[in-house]
Amino acid sequence: MHIQIFQGNQIGGCVTVISAVHNGKTHRIMIDYGASLPGSEVEEDFRYPWEDEPVDAVFFTHYHGDHTGRIMEIPSGVPLYMGSVARKVMTNIQEALGNSERISDADVHKREAELLKDDTRVNEFIYNGSCYDAVDLPGFHIEPYMVDHSAYDAYMFLVEAEDEACEDGYYRILHTGDFRGHGRRGQKMLTLIEAYVRRFGERTIDALVIEGTMMSRPKEKVLTEPQMQMEAAKYLKDHMYAFLICSSTNVDSLASFYQAAQMAGGRPYGRWMYVYSNYFREQLRLYTKTAGTFSTVYRFGKVGLLKEMGVARKNDRMETAMTQQELMERFGFLAVIKPADFCEEYIDMFMEAYHAGRIKQKPVIIYSMWEGYIEPGNKAENKEWTEFLSRQEQKGIKVERMHTSGHATPRMLADVIKAVDPADAIYPMHTECADDFQNLDIGNLRNRIVPQDDGSYVKI
Ligand SMILES: [Zn+2]
Repeated sequence: MHIQIFQGNQIGGCVTVISAVHNGKTHRIMIDYGASLPGSEVEEDFRYPWEDEPVDAVFFTHYHGDHTGRIMEIPSGVPLYMGSVARKVMTNIQEALGNSERISDADVHKREAELLKDDTRVNEFIYNGSCYDAVDLPGFHIEPYMVDHSAYDAYMFLVEAEDEACEDGYYRILHTGDFRGHGRRGQKMLTLIEAYVRRFGERTIDALVIEGTMMSRPKEKVLTEPQMQMEAAKYLKDHMYAFLICSSTNVDSLASFYQAAQMAGGRPYGRWMYVYSNYFREQLRLYTKTAGTFSTVYRFGKVGLLKEMGVARKNDRMETAMTQQELMERFGFLAVIKPADFCEEYIDMFMEAYHAGRIKQKPVIIYSMWEGYIEPGNKAENKEWTEFLSRQEQKGIKVERMHTSGHATPRMLADVIKAVDPADAIYPMHTECADDFQNLDIGNLRNRIVPQDDGSYVKI
């Protein structure tokens, strides 16, 4: 058996192990070793039998915790493979947590940051100008391809596993990881599959392992990132004092809001983006230095810190210096916060400015994360957040929801399945509704869908 999928019937925490026989010996690679997301039925993640079924290497599709969260449990001799930006994003997160006084297990995070910085453990994918270099290991040839997801630097993997029973000696598996078609880079995926993965039909893919997050969210409204940017620009034009709740790792949506703020204006100072921590600013700098070299959309130039509210600022066009707070009151802002007490103080400052008549509009909050986290009764609901938001609403502050999913729509899933045209099997994973893959518009390919009660899906 080539493919084993653990916890494939849930969104997040899925682990894939692929095996191959080389010179009479079984070799294995693992794709992702993440933690189950809050709200999933799993109370404790399964433990992979590292001793009995050792793996030669672990490949990470992207930096989200449901794919990387258990990296510290991987035995020390196992090499790790990931994208170079993903590695830095993760290191920034772990260093910030490791240095935080509010966190009780800071040491664990410090050790994880050390692991991520260890060049003897971590290997980065290397871009060669047209695609990423393949990785060759005993029994395997692995080709990483960048995909669009709410995490930047996310990959799918084409894995060629040695198999004497196959006509040309290889069983080929395409593992999509998490992806979508409606981000700025998403449209390229189908062309990439046709040209690089399938080599215009020259290369046959035997099995497709594909995520299906959105199969359980069919009613979710899906905007493209540029569409959301336009909506945000219109909204920010009418709302000068906007707070934003958005993940520090969702580069594309942060770019949409940052660019929207620039479109909404605020001369001569411009509409700055303020963030709640040094850590957050560090991530924006990283995206500017990396993604920003490919497209100006990802360049975050005007970024300040909310905690520097009292610092005096002056630029060439201003006659006298003003404090940051005065500038924010005069020219408006887009300020990224999180639902926490220390951020509520910033909101209150501007409510006070409104009541004192210094500003003409009330501040507003844009919520740009998955709806489920703030949906009363949803199993993933974060009560702290729901309470935070309803407290702000009680003060008369409007909470506007503006979000687009990081995952593929059912239509995109069907397009990818048809483009890959797997000869042998389709394995839905990262989904609570694997059975619904039968309803996708994929013609006879639906006969290749492997039901989740098949032995390849390891029951925990
Ligand atoms: Zn995921």
